Amino acid sequence: MLRKSPLLSLLATAAAACLISVAAPAAAGAATSAAPRPQASDDVSVQQTTLRYDDSRAGEFKDAVAAGAESWNAAVDNVELVPAGPGEHAEITVIATDGWPQAVLGPVRPGGSVWIEFGRQAVREGHDTTRIAAHEMGHSLGLPDTKPGPCSQLMSGASAGVDCDNASPDAQERARVEQLYGSGSASGLPADGRVLVDAP
Ligand SMILES: [Zn+2]
Repeated sequence: MLRKSPLLSLLATAAAACLISVAAPAAAGAATSAAPRPQASDDVSVQQTTLRYDDSRAGEFKDAVAAGAESWNAAVDNVELVPAGPGEHAEITVIATDGWPQAVLGPVRPGGSVWIEFGRQAVREGHDTTRIAAHEMGHSLGLPDTKPGPCSQLMSGASAGVDCDNASPDAQERARVEQLYGSGSASGLPADGRVLVDAP
């Protein structure tokens, strides 16, 4: 007659508990060692910062916003602007309004939040929508206005006149954004937070 002894079942329980207690630290150790995964990099010495933008309230300016982001992506290495997916946090929120364009001065950091008002007043005056988008995003990335200034400068904004459709930052503007999102001392600067209104 087979009868399971209380001692055997106790041993079985102890063995199972032992297996669990051994397995848990092993798994934790594996997770810890996998965390600092080395990044593949080419000529970029710092890890690129990804910032997401929300254009869901950008109305008729969605294409201009995408073009403005692409202009920045083509110009700098240390930061990349991508559309926020559903449920993703957006560092930059773009809202179409009837006033003058305005934006919070960055540099916005991942997990942070700044907004841009894509003001129709500037569009009615005849200013190029891609230049407006790239200019306001320049504020998000930490660039102040440089008015009055030439068309070659992105941050000269409306002072360059309505015929100016340049949406690319110049060498100095690029260098500043690379600094702000690079590995030097400027990379630690927090967002300024001031609201810059692009009215004449
Ligand atoms: Zn401005």
